[in-house]
Parts: sequence; structure tokens; C-alpha cells
Amino acid sequence: MPYVVTQSCCADASCVVACPVNCLHPAPGEPGFAEAEMLYVDPDSCVDCGACATACPVDAVVPHTALTPDQEPFRQLNADYFAVFPHRDRTPLAVVPRQRRLRASGPFAVAVVGAGPAGLQVADELLRHPEVTVDVLDRLPTPYGLVRSGVAPDHQATKQVERLFAMIEDQPGFGYLLGVEVGRDVRLAELAGAYDAVVYAVGASADRRLDVPGEDLAGSVAATDLVGWYNGHPDRRALAVDLSHERAVVVGNGNVALDVARVLTLDPAVLAGTDVSTEALAVLRTGGVREVVVLGRRGPAQAAFTVPELVGLRGLAEAGRLEVVVDTGGEALGTTPRERVLAEIAALPRPAAGTPRVVLRFLTRPVEVLGDAAGERVTGLRVERTRLVEVDGRVTAVATGLTEDLATGLVVRSVGYRGHPVTDLPYDDVTGTVPHERGRVRTGVYVAGWVKRGPTGFIGTNKTDAQETVEVLLDDLDVGHRADAVDGPAARARRTDLRRRLRRESGALDLAAWRRLDAEERRRGEVLGRPRVKVLDPGEAAAIARGGRDRSLRDYAVRTPGAVVARGRRAARRG
Ligand code: NAP
Repeated sequence: MPYVVTQSCCADASCVVACPVNCLHPAPGEPGFAEAEMLYVDPDSCVDCGACATACPVDAVVPHTALTPDQEPFRQLNADYFAVFPHRDRTPLAVVPRQRRLRASGPFAVAVVGAGPAGLQVADELLRHPEVTVDVLDRLPTPYGLVRSGVAPDHQATKQVERLFAMIEDQPGFGYLLGVEVGRDVRLAELAGAYDAVVYAVGASADRRLDVPGEDLAGSVAATDLVGWYNGHPDRRALAVDLSHERAVVVGNGNVALDVARVLTLDPAVLAGTDVSTEALAVLRTGGVREVVVLGRRGPAQAAFTVPELVGLRGLAEAGRLEVVVDTGGEALGTTPRERVLAEIAALPRPAAGTPRVVLRFLTRPVEVLGDAAGERVTGLRVERTRLVEVDGRVTAVATGLTEDLATGLVVRSVGYRGHPVTDLPYDDVTGTVPHERGRVRTGVYVAGWVKRGPTGFIGTNKTDAQETVEVLLDDLDVGHRADAVDGPAARARRTDLRRRLRRESGALDLAAWRRLDAEERRRGEVLGRPRVKVLDPGEAAAIARGGRDRSLRDYAVRTPGAVVARGRRAARRG
């Protein structure tokens, strides 16, 4: 079996079209593609050409001879998929997908709101058309959305998708207006008057609530906030996170819950080699969390975490870096890949005493966040055992009345993200998304990513999502439907005025500015043996981005923990 897709697969399907023998599945358009946890290589069809590995933006496809022990389980996982879904049609897909051409003559300019994976995929799809230029706006002075502030710092391989983003940025016609809040600094009407189309890809950054008493006590935090905190998101860096308690409880058992459980239990020395926020790392170093209980209200078969993430957890357990306890609540483990990996984890020998522990506890739901006598701080979580019943074809957890109190000072609510109303756009309060038809909100106004489909899928899912939205947008341009009825030259003049205003009034940053900040973060990281050191202070970030001289690298090393090592390395390199 020559090539294997491994854990950090982003499912963007670049590998699928690169394969000359159509051995990667599920492919776009095939049943299951949208929900697939990862893509798989058919061991019997792979011809070992390596085209998929070359195409993969995150180095997730590796030859079987190069699998690390952590990646080894993926050999079987890849093969197992084809035992269930043989995909017998091996007609090669077009290596170069047929390129649609615009019938209407341009030039066209599109504003994309949001510089995360969804927005950048939209820009990429648009820039395949030489008639189109794109300005990508973002509220933050830095692009890449959840890749920068959501992906767990110990998943650096996933963050390699930034290389793909840099290639998108390098295309002619691409521009940034970073540090601009659409809805405040500029409204849709103004964008629509200056661009032929406006695409919102603003994500779903709010948290869903538990709706149990006590969830607003100090010490009860949303995973969205905690994840932003350890990733240095400017809005969340000041979050007060008390890690002085031995046990933390995470409610919900999706991939975010596993990210949080790992980050809270990982050796800070390991995290120190990542791009984790330096401020959060200082708190994690002094923290005393020894156990994280991850609660799933349903059973192991219904867990929301994906198999690749579970395999990653097993890798940590096998390496003796983490004890992982599987508490099924009495539910027998079945034969799905997820349950098989859980059974393998449960069978691992117990590690040395004192090893941090993650407990995957099922059939347990939160009832109340318990507080101290003053009613201020979390002291525990009251949970209730559930049992499973099928309602309208869905396995659902129902209460049993059996409750128990778990002592803890930190409750993390990891029950999914949620979109919030977007200024100037309609909003569906039930789904937390903007109502649309195949991405079109109305002529000239479109959505992509989580604000369109809700908070599901992986980084690569945004590629097919963006393709759908852009297809509809191009259809509209082809028949002369634009955001506003302004003719080309007038719109161009408005764009120029708008860009000038946003630079002057909002300090909008362009691609060159981002590249300066990016280079500085990477340089600071190199000094300390880290991929990057994020500049957390927005003022400092803006100063660096604008090219103002900030602290010299040498000064930075001197003032930063690890400076002695860093200075030593620099001296050695010079020598
Ligand atoms: P998620 O996958 O939707 O999981 C939400 C979890 O919360 C589920 O276990 C759900 O249980 C539970 N839940 C919801 N309401 C609850 C309640 N009232 N009480 C108790 N439990 C409740 O959300 P997520 O973990 O935030 O992830 C969001 C998306 O990002 C997912 O598509 C995920 O795969 C993706 N992601 C991927 C990666 C990766 O690939 N490495 C990393 C992070 C995130 P029920 O199933 O019973 O509703």
C-alpha cells in the first residue's frame, strides 16, 4: 500500500484530481464527501506515483514507508474504508478540471468579507478568472481565521495550509484590507456600490449555550473563548483562565473538546515548541490540571469527535504521555472504526502514576454548574446519567434521574459554534446562519463557509463550498446581475475612494503589511525554536505591519524566557 492519508488531512480534495488512477475517495460529488472525516487511498489501486502527496496542501499524504508510529494506524483505516465503500469505478478524473470561462466581459471586482479558510477559498475560485480581482476584508489585522486562532497549537501540520493561503495571496488581482470591520467601518451598501459582488465568509464565532443554571459563573467558559485564548486571538487573550484545580470538565465531545482536553493536559514544554500564545503558555505552565473529563450526552457510537482525532489521542496514550480512560456508561462498544479505536484505547496498559488523564465519559449530561457560597465561582458540575432512545430515526439521550456531582473549578462548554446576526444581512435564528440559495443571499450578495452552512466540516470542506457560491456568483455576472447598477468606471472610482478612506480612517492593512508581520512573527519564532511567536498586542502588530521599527530581535530575545538558549543559538549560527 504505497500512499496513506493521515490524520492532518484537510479534505480539500486537491489530491483527488491529482490522482491518475482515481484511487482517493470519497471524491467531490460522491455520496459522503461533505461529511467525510478524511479522504482515503485505496491500497489496491494506488500506483505509488506520489501525485497526491505533491498536491496535498498539508503534507497529509505520505508513503507507507514513511509513516511515523503515530500515523501507522491510518494504514488500516485507509484500507478499511474501501472494504465498506469499494468505489469500483476507476475512471481517472480530469487531472485539470474543466475551467469555466465568463461569458460577460469584465473586469469585475469582488469584495470578500472574512480572510479565513472560507474567504480565501472563495478568492481562489474567483481568481481563476483573469477578469476578476478580489479585495479580502477582515476585522482583524491578521488573516487565516480559525487556522490561526482555532486549530490547536499542537496540530502544526494542519496549519501548513497557510502555505496554500500564501499561494492564493500571491495571485494577480488579490488584495487585502485587514483591520476593517464590515458593518461598522463600511456597510454593505457602500461595498455594493463599489464592487460587482460581495461575498460574506465571516464564520460562526459565537458559542452555543448549555441552558443550565450556573453556566455564567466565573470558571465556566465557552470553548470558543478558551481556544481563542490559547491561540492568542486579540479578543480573547485577556480571558481569565483559572487552572489551579486538578480537574477540568469539558461538556460536549466534538473535535474542539478533544483539542481543549489535549492542550490542558499536554506538557507545557511540548506546547512551547508551537505557536501557542505566549501569555496563555505562561498560565498553562503554572496550572495544576491533572485530569480532564470530556462528557458526551450520548453513547460512544454517537460521539462527535472524528476517528483521526481519536487516533491522535491514542498515540499520546501509547507514548505514555497521557492516560485516556474510556467510560462508556455501560454501553457496549460496537464495531464502527470509532468504537474500535475506543476499545483499543481502553485496552492500553495504565501509564506511570502522575501521568495526566483524559476521561472520555459517555451517557452523561450536565444538569447544573455548581457555585461557591457567594454564588460567584464554579466549584463543580452536577451531571446526570442518560440512556439512549431512538426518536424519529435519531439516537437521542434521555434523562434517568441518576445524578452525581463532579468537583471542578473549570467547566468548558464545548457544544459547538454558532453564527450571529450579520449587519445588513438576513438571519435565521434557528440555524444561526444567513438564509441563502446555493450561496446567493440576493443578486450581488453571497455567503460561504460557516455563515452559510453552519459550523460543520473541515478546513478543506470550504473548497467545495466556495465552488458552489462562486458558480452562482459567476452565473449572475454572466447575465449582467451585479451588486449595484453602477457602471464600471464609476464603481472603480468608488473603490479607489473606499480603499483610501479605509486606510486613512481604519488603518486598513494590505498584503505587504501582513507579510511584514508574518515574517516578524516567524523570525521571533526561529529565535526560540518555535514556528512563530504571535504578536498579541494589536498596537504592536499594527506598528510592525506598517513597517515601523519595533524591538529588535536581539532585544526581544533578551527580554523573553528562553533568551539564553536563543542567544546561544544565534551566536552558534553566526560563528
Ligand atoms: P461538534 O462537532 O458539533 O460537537 C458538539 C458536541 O456538543 C457534540 O458532542 C454534541 O452532542 C454536544 N452538545 C451539543 N449540545 C449539547 C448540550 N446541550 N449538552 C451536552 N452536549 C451537547 O462541535 P465542535 O467540536 O465545536 O466542532 C465544530 C466543527 O469543527 C466540527 O465540524 C469539527 O469536526 C470541526 N473541527 C475539526 C477539527 C479537526 O479536524 N481536527 C478540530 C476542531 C474542530 P450531540 O451529538 O449529542 O448533539
